Amino acid sequence: MTDRRFFFLVALIAVLAACSDPEPEVGYPALDDAVLQAFSAVDLKETIDFLAADERAGRIPGSPGHLQARDWIAEQMETIGLEPLGSDGYLYDYDTVYDGARYMIDASGDVVSSVNATGYDLVGLIPGSDPEQAEEYIVVLAHYDHLGVTADGDAFNGAYDDAAGVALALEIARVLLEQEAAPPRSIIILITDDEEVSLGGAEAWIANPTVPVGDIVAAVSIDPVGRPLLPDYWPILAMGLERSPTLEAVWREAALQFQELPVLFMNRDAVPIFSSDQDEFYRASDPIAAAWFVNPGFSWYHTVDDTAETIDYRVLLPTTRWLATVLNVMGHDTARYPYEGPQPLDGRTARDGVALFDGILHSGVLTNEEVLEASGFRATMAEAAEADSIGDVVENLDLFLFDAVYFVMFELTEAHPGEVPPPFPG
Ligand SMILES: [Zn+2]
Repeated sequence: MTDRRFFFLVALIAVLAACSDPEPEVGYPALDDAVLQAFSAVDLKETIDFLAADERAGRIPGSPGHLQARDWIAEQMETIGLEPLGSDGYLYDYDTVYDGARYMIDASGDVVSSVNATGYDLVGLIPGSDPEQAEEYIVVLAHYDHLGVTADGDAFNGAYDDAAGVALALEIARVLLEQEAAPPRSIIILITDDEEVSLGGAEAWIANPTVPVGDIVAAVSIDPVGRPLLPDYWPILAMGLERSPTLEAVWREAALQFQELPVLFMNRDAVPIFSSDQDEFYRASDPIAAAWFVNPGFSWYHTVDDTAETIDYRVLLPTTRWLATVLNVMGHDTARYPYEGPQPLDGRTARDGVALFDGILHSGVLTNEEVLEASGFRATMAEAAEADSIGDVVENLDLFLFDAVYFVMFELTEAHPGEVPPPFPG
């Protein structure tokens, strides 16, 4: 067989494959493989290694480590080619009050009470590719502040929470700009300050945003990411979609396009003990639909052990591709996403709970006791699905939710942190 015939055969096979395997019937184009392949764990790691380094001393507002983080992110935004969309370049400053209840390392290296008067968000724009739709904005949120240091000066490095979220947001921007793959709608990368104590950075920006507030169609909050729930179970948990059925529809479509990790949906009010920046979009004077997603691997959440070495890039890299996928679908959509407020913990919420506990019960690492406990939660959720209400089948709803969340987020993840592999093979 000559080369020419070989190439003809290859071309013929490609044509036949294209004919026999039509694109799935979805309303929006899938992301190009070239774009999906361009996401880089090396880039993600560079951001996390910088932000979560001991030298940043937990990035608490008002501290030198925090200002280093701020300036570094602004530099990255410029290098990537994001358009500045703050009040002064990428910076968006606002007045704040940090009350001194935590510790920071000051310019002389001493541990002192943390105080602060000015907060700084960082804001950059990926312009939409269609002039007609470029004035519709999707806001991507991740926070760069964290908890400072202990009284003894040990850093809360905050790699999982939320250096990894910042890394993910910047990597999305880098790839979409480099690959000229921006969707018709514009995307705003909003790296927030003051999330940990007050959600103050998100609150300040949405109260006085740098684009017309009526042109913001939705927000996506990433916090925290980069750890598996269990060593053999790596879901993405998406919350708050029940508050906007039209937004939920596009997220579910994106979840169908994305096969790498399980994407589970959860009523935002099923996890009342947690909050993040999306809540400020819900509380805006004209509330905005917003989704919140996490990798629920809370093993070292808010401890000094949340270090860069604990990030699992086998989880974080596909989670980056998940965000790219869902932004691509939202970015090609033409629908608006009316916000309908908190929704009851109904049968659907219970079915989401069943799905989560089914995944947990498939894990091979649980002890017998954990299997019993998980089975108990699953049975209650299944009963609640039948009754179309969680509140109707438990004695104390708040206590039940607290127990279930505590079991999944803390007991299981702390008992089974798993071996963290080296960042890259070899
Ligand atoms: Zn966080």
